[in-house]
Amino acid sequence: MGGTREARELAEIASGERGFDIVSSLAGRVRDPVLPAGAVRLGGFGGADGLRDWLAANGIEVVIDATHPFAGTMSAHAATAAASLGLPLLHVRRPGWSERQGDNWIRVPDLAGAAAAELGERVFLTIGRQGVGAFAALTQPWFLIRSIDPPTGPLPPNHELLLARGPFTAQDEGRLLTRQRIDVLVTKDSGGELTEAKLEAARAVGIPVVMIDRPALPAGAAVVAEVADAWQWLRRQAG
Ligand code: NAP
Repeated sequence: MGGTREARELAEIASGERGFDIVSSLAGRVRDPVLPAGAVRLGGFGGADGLRDWLAANGIEVVIDATHPFAGTMSAHAATAAASLGLPLLHVRRPGWSERQGDNWIRVPDLAGAAAAELGERVFLTIGRQGVGAFAALTQPWFLIRSIDPPTGPLPPNHELLLARGPFTAQDEGRLLTRQRIDVLVTKDSGGELTEAKLEAARAVGIPVVMIDRPALPAGAAVVAEVADAWQWLRRQAG
């Protein structure tokens, strides 16, 4: 189960190996997704029961949840469906970001916590397409909302949309913060290098970051951070 760089890398490795028959699953929401190597299926399964039925019908023997750290529903469904079929399950979860010298982060548990935080006047909102509705009732700040595809649901009244797909350089991010006179950055603790430049830029420009914590993973299954470890785990299942 993919939608991440890690999932694509793992599919690339495994689909080239004899004895491994891989299918990647994507939610199918991004208009122009970067497709992994090998077989791909698109779209939701219809809840944990739908996923269980799909796994059984397709003779799946091992489940790897390499979804985004904020795809908490999918991770939970993977745990339920794999457990009900007695299938081995691995979560691939990249580490979150950590605060460095010069950073001023306000950690909040979720989107509602971010919307309730002291946000300043000009907010750079980089939380992806979903969840912007949590800020819709905020009439005072102006928001620069960046996502790959247009956000879903209600939007705050004062905003500008910036549709763009990373990676971005710290230099470009810094220019954007300055040009738009941003005084706070709101982001999810997604981790990874592809979208880290905005944090570097916020540090350089000296603005605070409201950092939204990840949802907890379901207990019980193995968890790795690195693609190489996921591949080792998968090989062990085959052996
Ligand atoms: P989510 O809230 O955990 O999942 C919502 C529903 O979307 C799931 O119940 C499932 O529908 C469907 N779904 C999610 N991931 C799927 C997958 N890999 N294959 C098939 N169906 C999937 O997930 P989300 O936050 O909407 O994320 C959707 C996808 O985008 C994930 O694959 C994730 O890796 C990727 N992504 C998410 C973020 C983010 O910030 N959330 C960022 C980058 C990429 P059914 O119940 O019908 O099965």
